[in-house]
Amino acid sequence: MLLDTFGRVATDLRVSLTDRCNLRCTYCMPEEGLQWLAKPELLTDDEIVRLVRIAVTRLGVEELRFTGGEPLLRPGLTGLVERCAALEPRPRISLTTNGIGLERTAEVLRDAGLDRVNVSLDTLDPEVFQRMTRRKRHGDVLRGLAAARAAGLAPVKVNAVLMPGVNESEAPDLLAWALEHEYELRFIEQMPLDPQRGWQRAGMITAGDILAALRTRFTLTQEGEEARGSAPAERWLVDGGPGRVGVIASVTRPFCRACDRTRLTADGQVRTCLFATEESDLRGALRGGASDEELAARWRTAMWGKKAGAGIDDPEFVQPRRPMSAIGG
Ligand code: SAM
Ligand code: SF4
Repeated sequence: MLLDTFGRVATDLRVSLTDRCNLRCTYCMPEEGLQWLAKPELLTDDEIVRLVRIAVTRLGVEELRFTGGEPLLRPGLTGLVERCAALEPRPRISLTTNGIGLERTAEVLRDAGLDRVNVSLDTLDPEVFQRMTRRKRHGDVLRGLAAARAAGLAPVKVNAVLMPGVNESEAPDLLAWALEHEYELRFIEQMPLDPQRGWQRAGMITAGDILAALRTRFTLTQEGEEARGSAPAERWLVDGGPGRVGVIASVTRPFCRACDRTRLTADGQVRTCLFATEESDLRGALRGGASDEELAARWRTAMWGKKAGAGIDDPEFVQPRRPMSAIGG
């Protein structure tokens, strides 16, 4: 298994399928995009399936999430889902996406074996959406979400980041909308992972701010630690339930001590944490002819070196070289 020196076991693998994206969310990417990885640097579909197979059959991974960049831009996504769903033991498979294109692909992906989706949507206002993502695609995201729900990719989760002076007042409206459409809304605190280095601790909207705003309209009852397990989101029942809302307070209330994540970038590097400053190169070993056992051993060694926490609030904090879109959020 993937054990670290703090006794944590990683069973949840996040695989980034591409660093490219069709949106330009201000907290994630600059307007002009980034220097994309060249095709030969990307793991091929066969290489991804091999590494996922090693993770599932030798290293105890039970949950698999495809992300990016925008994973729906990866041409072979359906085949990847299908091949990973055929592994024994079968991992649970989910996708984090901006939802553009999901209208067309939700059913196909479900049939291939996709279990769940998280769709990112920060605002209900098409104009604010355009300001935040620099693209006019609000309608595509809403249709993608509806298609995911119709395809039974339940529970459909919605990820929202609040930005000061832009969409910060929308928390209660977003929750009312999510409850009405039976989506499970989770707010994510903005993290220092943007290449423009625009993040400021003092300016960010905290979990405390979000909860205070929600409580002006809803009664929130916190679910216990047990219900949370190793999930990064703290969850609250809304007005007695069954509707819920989550908050991922990665900055102000990090949950590193129960972290069960391991990450693989689109170019085949293992990362132990979103905020890790070191990576372990599986692609080089794989292309150099390493056996499954050698690759598994490298992965175990990388995880053994996982740090206790992300350390964002530490004065010594160093932002990782790779931005979120190239790590896989
Ligand atoms: N493109 C897909 C999407 O937007 O869902 C998948 C990749 S994206 C990097 C994954 C998640 O990270 C999204 O929910 C996005 O809102 C979130 N994200 C990106 N940059 C962030 C930041 N600086 N702080 C907090 N969350 C961020
Ligand atoms: Fe693209 Fe997701 Fe980053 Fe937005 S958050 S720019 S959709 S990768």
